[in-house]
Amino acid sequence: MDRIIQSPGKYIQGAGVLARIGDYLKPLADRYLVLGDDFVLGLVQEKVKASCSAAGLSLEVASFKGECSQNEIARLRALAEKAGCSAVLGIGGGKTLDTAKALAHYMNIPVVVAPTIASTDAPCSALSVIYTDSGEFESYLLLPSNPNRVIVDTEIVAGAPARLLAAGIGDALATWFEARACARSGATTMAGGECTRAALALAELCYNTLMEEGEKAMIAARQHVVTEALEKVVEANTFLSGVGFESGGLAAAHAVHNGLTAIPDAHHYFHGEKVAFGTLVQLILENAPLEELDDVAALCHTVGLPITLAELDITQDVAAKMRIVAQAACAEGETIHNMPGGVTVDKVYAAIMVADEYGQRLLDQWS
Ligand SMILES: [Zn+2]
Repeated sequence: MDRIIQSPGKYIQGAGVLARIGDYLKPLADRYLVLGDDFVLGLVQEKVKASCSAAGLSLEVASFKGECSQNEIARLRALAEKAGCSAVLGIGGGKTLDTAKALAHYMNIPVVVAPTIASTDAPCSALSVIYTDSGEFESYLLLPSNPNRVIVDTEIVAGAPARLLAAGIGDALATWFEARACARSGATTMAGGECTRAALALAELCYNTLMEEGEKAMIAARQHVVTEALEKVVEANTFLSGVGFESGGLAAAHAVHNGLTAIPDAHHYFHGEKVAFGTLVQLILENAPLEELDDVAALCHTVGLPITLAELDITQDVAAKMRIVAQAACAEGETIHNMPGGVTVDKVYAAIMVADEYGQRLLDQWS
C-alpha cells in the first residue's frame, strides 16, 4: 500500500494573530466571504476588517445560522457568488469551519479557517460533517484537500472556557495510541494510505507535549492568559492531533466514543471528554503496560477529563448499557477494526468494564 500524509497548506498560530490576518490572506485572494456566528463576529470582526483593509482586501461578512447543512451552504453560496468572493474565511467553532470548508469546496475556491477554540482536532482536516437544518447527523463530506490556511489566535482560544481546552486534550490524547495501533496493524488511515513515519512522529510528539505541558496549559486557560505551555498545547490539540489522526489513523478510542453515543446518558459531554475514556479502554484492550495507563489516567484527572463511566454520568444499568456501547463500537466500518489482532464485542465490553473499575480505584486512591 502507498504511504500518504496530508496536511493544511499552512498552519499559523500566535497571540493576537487575527490582527495580522490580512497579510496571511492576501496571497490567496483579494475578496473573501467571511463566515462567523454573531457572537464570534462581535468579538473579532473589527480586528479582521482593519487588518484586511490595511492589506488591500475586501470582505463580505455573512452571519452563520448555526448548522452545517446543505441549505445553509446553498444560502451562503448564493451570497458569495452575488458578492463576487473568490475565497472563504471561516472563523469560530467546528460547525462554522466545516461550513466554510464545504462551501469553498463546492465553489472550487481557497478556504482559510480560524478556530476560536481548541476543543477538537477537526480544523486541519479535509472533512466536513453535514447535518440537517434541525441538527441531526446527515453525512460526512470528504474533501479533496485540507484547508489552504489554518490560523489560530491563542489570545482568543485562551479567552474561551477552560473546559474546551481540556476536551481538546482528550481528543489529542488518543491520537498517538490510535496511530500506533494502526501502524502495528498496517491499517489504512483517513488519508487513504499506510501511515508514514512523519505522521507517527507527529502523533508521538502530540502525546509527549500533552504529558509535559497539559497541566500547565490548563492553569493558563483557567486564568484566560497565553503562556508558552498554552501555545504548545494548542498546537498539539489542533495541528499535531489533526495531522496525526488523519494521516496516522483512528482505532478503538474513537470507536468507543461513537459507541457511547448509542446511549443517551453521556450526550451532554464533549467529544474529547468521551474520547479520553475511550483511550483508557483502548489501552486495556491492547493490554498496555500499567505505567502507560497510570500516566494517561493521571493526566486526564489533572486536566478534568473523565476516567470512569460515573464521571460521564453513566450510573444506572451499567452492564446492559455497556453491552450496547460495545456492540455499537464494533459496528461494521468502525475504526476499532484497525486494532492489531482484531476485536470482538466481548473483548470490548470487558475492556470498558475494566477501564471503569481501574479509573474508580484511582479516584478512591486520590481522594
Ligand atoms: Zn476526535
